Amino acid sequence: MAFGVYVHIPYCVTKCPYCDFNSHGTGGRFPERDYTDAILGELALYGDVLGRGRLTSIFFGGGTPSLFDPGSIERVISAIFERTGSSGEGVEVSLEVNPKTADLEKLKGLKRAGVNRISVGVQSFTRRKLDFLGRINDPEDSGRILEEVPAAGFTNYSFDLMYGTSGETMAEWEGDLNRALSFPSAHISAYCLTIENGTEFGKLYRAGKLILPPEDSLSEFISYTTAFLESAGYGQYEISNYAKPGYECRHNLLYWRGGDYLGIGAGAHSHLGGSGESGWGRRWANVKNPNSYIKAVSDGKKPVDFSEELERYEAVEDEILMSFRLSEGLDIPALRRKYGVSPDLSRIGYLRDDGFIEISGDRLRLTKKGALLSDEIIVRLVGSLG
Ligand code: SF4
Repeated sequence: MAFGVYVHIPYCVTKCPYCDFNSHGTGGRFPERDYTDAILGELALYGDVLGRGRLTSIFFGGGTPSLFDPGSIERVISAIFERTGSSGEGVEVSLEVNPKTADLEKLKGLKRAGVNRISVGVQSFTRRKLDFLGRINDPEDSGRILEEVPAAGFTNYSFDLMYGTSGETMAEWEGDLNRALSFPSAHISAYCLTIENGTEFGKLYRAGKLILPPEDSLSEFISYTTAFLESAGYGQYEISNYAKPGYECRHNLLYWRGGDYLGIGAGAHSHLGGSGESGWGRRWANVKNPNSYIKAVSDGKKPVDFSEELERYEAVEDEILMSFRLSEGLDIPALRRKYGVSPDLSRIGYLRDDGFIEISGDRLRLTKKGALLSDEIIVRLVGSLG
């Protein structure tokens, strides 16, 4: 069975005001050696898990993994290959890069370290949006890095763009999309700015000091983006992700298809499925504070903060929820094979008749109308399981 490893690097130069990831602004000072040792130490605690599947992907996310030296990244990749018994052949190894923290030499070093896919946090090519988002990269960095990534030998790379910023017009967003197409990347992620509790933007928004585009204009941004990128050959395979055929992110597909993965590092999440005989799966999350994480591992303990065994209905609900993010939708026979249940189509026909879901072949998908009520539809699908 396919298996992935996620490695979380929680350090950033500064904290962006919209970000609710487990990331910490450090001004560029962070304990790289101790943290890398802790990652290797944590991997050593999961020999049983690392041996249970066929390694298909590794993903270094953050935070800002590109702050780390390629030598540290290489130590981690080698350890994962060694502990999974993988030769590395055919394994997708992705790493997130902040444009300000990498240059051609570092990118070449990452390539030599075994990284074969780069995901760049560009967000925008305009100064106004980058300033608004509190990003450390400027428009010149955004353009430069997208020339250096292929120059370093990467043929598989992606970059993130963000829309829905305060005062953003469709013309400004179109400018970002047009500029995006001037780079031959085969994958683009386009995210809508969301306001999360606990962030700087969250506080400003609640205080009425942050005005964002109205909700109904956001659906126009999404439709426009999809039409724009699809006409340029990028298929929308997930709500916010577009790729040329064959360049979909394998690691993220593993998440959205309910696969098994081990999350290593501060705050990282893991999921292992079950067959029913010994339960229906388990998920857990690590302690978020990087220093507590390093301390726990150096004490020889698994740095777990939260862990739960899944009931069958929870595992099914998770799987339906994830599959609805994907254009391919829910694979009904696969759900039955895994969990022994599937939605009773005779009891949910009204959802199709009313245009909330569509069923073609073995697949069940949300329509655009259904996506607006996805939580309610999932409840009804789970209620029809038989
Ligand atoms: S660089 Fe990325 S991870 Fe770091 S604070 Fe900004 S959005 Fe969050």
